[in-house]
Amino acid sequence: MKDEGLIESYSRGGFVYPPSLDYKVESPGNEPIAAMILREKFDDGLVKLAIDSGATFRDGRVVEDVTIHEDSVSTKLTDGSHIESQIVIGADGAWSTVAKQFGLHQNHENMSIALVQEYPLSSKTLDTFFTEKRICHVHMKVQGIAGYGWVFPKKQHLNIGISVFESLSKKSSGEKNLKEVFTNYIHLLKENNIIPDNLKIGKIKGAALPLYPLSKTFTDRCLLCGDAAGLINPVSGEGIYYAMASGEIAAGVIADAFNADEYSERFLSSYQKRWKDDFGKDIKLLMRFTKQWTKENDKFVELASKDEKLTAMALGILHGGISIHEQRWKLARRYLYVYFKELFSK
Ligand SMILES: Cc1cc2nc3c(=O)[nH]c(=O)nc-3n(C[C@H](O)[C@H](O)[C@H](O)COP(=O)(O)OP(=O)(O)OC[C@H]3O[C@@H](n4cnc5c(N)ncnc54)[C@H](O)[C@@H]3O)c2cc1C
Repeated sequence: MKDEGLIESYSRGGFVYPPSLDYKVESPGNEPIAAMILREKFDDGLVKLAIDSGATFRDGRVVEDVTIHEDSVSTKLTDGSHIESQIVIGADGAWSTVAKQFGLHQNHENMSIALVQEYPLSSKTLDTFFTEKRICHVHMKVQGIAGYGWVFPKKQHLNIGISVFESLSKKSSGEKNLKEVFTNYIHLLKENNIIPDNLKIGKIKGAALPLYPLSKTFTDRCLLCGDAAGLINPVSGEGIYYAMASGEIAAGVIADAFNADEYSERFLSSYQKRWKDDFGKDIKLLMRFTKQWTKENDKFVELASKDEKLTAMALGILHGGISIHEQRWKLARRYLYVYFKELFSK
């Protein structure tokens, strides 16, 4: 997809810090490492693209109920109206009503949380603190959370947040007051001169993050996309790419369903196979790394701080430019090379 003006700016550099802040890993090179968007503007732009392609947008109404009939689906909206269709796509986020209707939804055990604040700031201030490269900062396990804190400078906004990658019902995260963690993180950023000292902490917003994909993302006359299906990078929490990629795959499967006039669960199961073949293998491999968030040692980050190639690979995997499934052996070889190099140099 062309960017259609939806991308606000790019970050061309960044630092990753371990909890001790003893060292930092710098992204090598000058290439963009992240594309920044303003979420409202981005979502509005996507709606416009959909309308231009023939979609009808029904704003201000919410799906209340979905019923599968033998030859159609009936979707009831909060204004009392119904939409009759051959198929329904649940792209309604982490707490998907559609997924719930068909018993496919996430249970609370598989949910976590991210908190965020976005501040409008002048380009001059952003240039001073983050340079024209809009350097971003990531703090691993900040304040002991099983996740990270981030500082993402955009063109004229600063986005600061924390993500936790552990079920909130688990003790280590559940015991923490995340608003307090967020507030302390802001103080830490100010103390280290990463953000302006006069930045005010306003209303902190939070939202759910699915931790794993659902085991089943389809049923008769229904497909689930994006967060509704739990399709998210389980290490970084990024889900916009997977929401769009799964939407595209769903569109292809539905086109096939229309051609074959077949909307059965058996026919639609090819959706799950296709997203697994596409990005599902990456999600599965990344899920093995989520344990890192609760481990004490940060060997990987420490070694990456000593080796540009390892850093470049890890960043590529995190921002999606590199498939971990395709590059897993290369990554493992580089890790072992740097590990033993360090061991024998002692
Ligand atoms: C604080 C935070 C920061 C994040 N940062 C990043 C990031 O930097 N990069 C990244 O890639 N991902 C990020 N994510 C994850 C990302 O936001 C999601 O993965 C992504 O938005 C999923 O898109 P989606 O379309 O599946 O769901 P959503 O974006 O949640 O969209 C679902 C839509 O469905 C609508 N809806 C819900 N219920 C109903 C209903 N019953 N009827 C009608 N409409 C309904 C909602 O209003 C919403 O518009 C972040 C998440 C959080 C919580």
